[in-house]
Amino acid sequence: EQPRYLFMVRTKIPGGVLSAEQYLVHDHLADRFGNGTLRVTTRQDFQFHGVLKGNLQAGLKELNQVLVTTLAACGDVERNVVACPAPLADPLHGLVTRQARALSSRLLPRSRAYYEVWLNGERIAVERPAGDARPGADRLAPAEAHAGWDRDGRPGPGVALEDPVEPLYGPTYLPRKFKTGIALAGDNCIDVFTQDLGLVAIPDGREVAGFNVLAGGGLGMSHGTPGTFPRLADVVGFVPPHWVFPVAEAVISIHRDFGNRADRHRARLKYVLAERGLPWFREELERRLGFSLSEPTPMEPFRADDHLGWHPQGDGRLFLGLPVENGRIRDAGQERLKTGLRELVQRLRPGVRLTPQQNVLLTDLEPTARPEVEVLLRAYGIRTVEDYSAARRHAMACPALPTCGLAITEAERAMPGLMGRIEAELRELGLEGEPIAIRMTGCPNGCARPYTAELAFVGRGAGRYTVFVGGDQAGTRLALPFLDLVALDDLPRVVRPLFERWKRSRRPGETFGDFCHRVGLEHLRR
Ligand code: SF4
Repeated sequence: EQPRYLFMVRTKIPGGVLSAEQYLVHDHLADRFGNGTLRVTTRQDFQFHGVLKGNLQAGLKELNQVLVTTLAACGDVERNVVACPAPLADPLHGLVTRQARALSSRLLPRSRAYYEVWLNGERIAVERPAGDARPGADRLAPAEAHAGWDRDGRPGPGVALEDPVEPLYGPTYLPRKFKTGIALAGDNCIDVFTQDLGLVAIPDGREVAGFNVLAGGGLGMSHGTPGTFPRLADVVGFVPPHWVFPVAEAVISIHRDFGNRADRHRARLKYVLAERGLPWFREELERRLGFSLSEPTPMEPFRADDHLGWHPQGDGRLFLGLPVENGRIRDAGQERLKTGLRELVQRLRPGVRLTPQQNVLLTDLEPTARPEVEVLLRAYGIRTVEDYSAARRHAMACPALPTCGLAITEAERAMPGLMGRIEAELRELGLEGEPIAIRMTGCPNGCARPYTAELAFVGRGAGRYTVFVGGDQAGTRLALPFLDLVALDDLPRVVRPLFERWKRSRRPGETFGDFCHRVGLEHLRR
């Protein structure tokens, strides 16, 4: 008998946008093949944990039948494209959502191997999804239905799936993964500076004038490996909307051709930027594009909206942002989040969106449905944003132990208890109303984006963490290492003096991260 190998399966959901039907298939498969929970990730997709090897093909087939793919959700290719998930009915938000989906399709690998391995090489006839007016969409295999079609429904080169050549990725694919995110000027809810390629939509009245192009962000580093570090992206230039595809492909091709293939620790685009510099990168990009980029458009200051609570969409309907503690959708104790969400989605058929803070938005709700939603939330003991402290609302942890093979410490399982102790410290100091972005990861890879947090705990080994401070709430500044090798149990004791000094010496309205940054590490350590 073969060993019972367990797998993690990650779906690819551009911009985190799901239909009710797609959500319900995820919910069902988590029970049938996974460990009965669903994990929202910071890249706006779902992870299933505990999937037995023998169940992989059946699960992937069911997902593909509702037009959800796992193709390129992992691997050395373009990963899930993240985008602001707010379902607002203005042209800007609509364009950003469409752009994320179109870009994701454009950048899918062309290999047929995925279909042959997981779907038996058969083309599965699928129903045309609601609102999908593309010609022939009802006859396409699921991945083809969003491969290589532009946003106006014209087939692009990606439709020729018979072509075994990878025109973008080449025979050896990329040196490592590549992450793209699309933000709106002023709202950095996706942490755009942490992406390999960031696009910031610049408004022109009610339209989009174009995108500022950012490149070379990335958070992973390795303990004890010199020359690995988190890095914020550089602002490279500005392009009109119709140049987004060529620019994305050209940036990826620079990663493909100049990324370090000898040392996997240093194989991200950020090291190419760090070594060769922004002027070289811009020149190389322009050479590949065959035209010069415009100078970046000045951007208004960013903030990071988590979109939680009830909001009007601008089309007469409402959306509700529900906090999901550390992204884990499950039934636990009094809070039956998984069952309650299923019931809600079955009854009201809202759209579902996943946020880069690992939360869930229920969209397209008629105002008349609000009382029913609130009754259901209470019936299943589901906490809303009003039930969270300001600090817990903004806290995030990565999955870490026991589901991530790279984890060296706890994160998701330890975070709720740790937050309870930190909340108690803040309460004692009268700081309980202050929002602080606190994040925790089980290794230095940085999946929960600890290095842009105001306060972060990064797994170091044997139950010990490096404490980082000084990032900002808008995600525009890196945190710095404050103290190393702190035991999990000691973390609240170690950060309490920092809270005390912040309370004593802060400027009016100064956030914790801004205070730590202004005062500086040396002074904080005294
Ligand atoms: Fe990512 Fe490391 Fe956390 Fe695993 S333990 S999810 S690799 S940060």
